[in-house]
Amino acid sequence: MPEFYVVGVMSLAADIRLYAGGQATNVDLVECEHCGRNNWHVPDTVEVQLDHLGKRGFVESLWNSGLLRIFREDLLELWERRGLSGLERKPVKIASWSRKPNKPLPPSIPKYYVLTPHNRVRLNRPILTGPICPVCGIGDYDFPRLGAHLASGIQIDGTSWDGSDFFGLPGYAHVYCSRRAAEITLAGGFNRHIVFTKQGDFHRWEDFDIRKGWTAKAYEQHVESFLIRDAGNL
Ligand SMILES: [Zn+2]
Repeated sequence: MPEFYVVGVMSLAADIRLYAGGQATNVDLVECEHCGRNNWHVPDTVEVQLDHLGKRGFVESLWNSGLLRIFREDLLELWERRGLSGLERKPVKIASWSRKPNKPLPPSIPKYYVLTPHNRVRLNRPILTGPICPVCGIGDYDFPRLGAHLASGIQIDGTSWDGSDFFGLPGYAHVYCSRRAAEITLAGGFNRHIVFTKQGDFHRWEDFDIRKGWTAKAYEQHVESFLIRDAGNL
């Protein structure tokens, strides 16, 4: 079975205050008519209102409140040139500042897209706690509370994978990828705001707990030890 990776963006790769990000304002929760579970509906154009630019400004990933995987056009073009699959996307429109609607937008905003890979997989680990909905495809996995430590990461059911380079999990914000996709991204120098973790390492890092004597720096190094920023470490 090939190795799979979790695409890590947002606060995992770099402090979100360092680079541009904002509020995704028109992504709605839609209730499944069959099972009643809520799922995010990504509209044809996603609107983002800027919160901050950070000192690095617009980088290859755009932080957003909707946990959407938003990437800059040049990175998507690199993936496309190298023939990666699963690159379904929707454009992002940066419409205004979130709390200062009259403030002029920065002069040159790069084009961004939300990656919305069509292929969805199932997981073998954590285990399912009930049947998968035949309509929306969402299953409830036995994940601990949001952001908490997983003892042995996740395991994607390889029989549910169609061979795409990028793919997701219905009902969850995760995006997964093939080894080749991770390799091309890191070899292209995109490793400051995007990182990868092996599926079996995903969220194996401990929760920050001041009572354990963690300093902020030591904790950062602990988390970093699970993150891959160099193609040679895949
Ligand atoms: Zn459903």
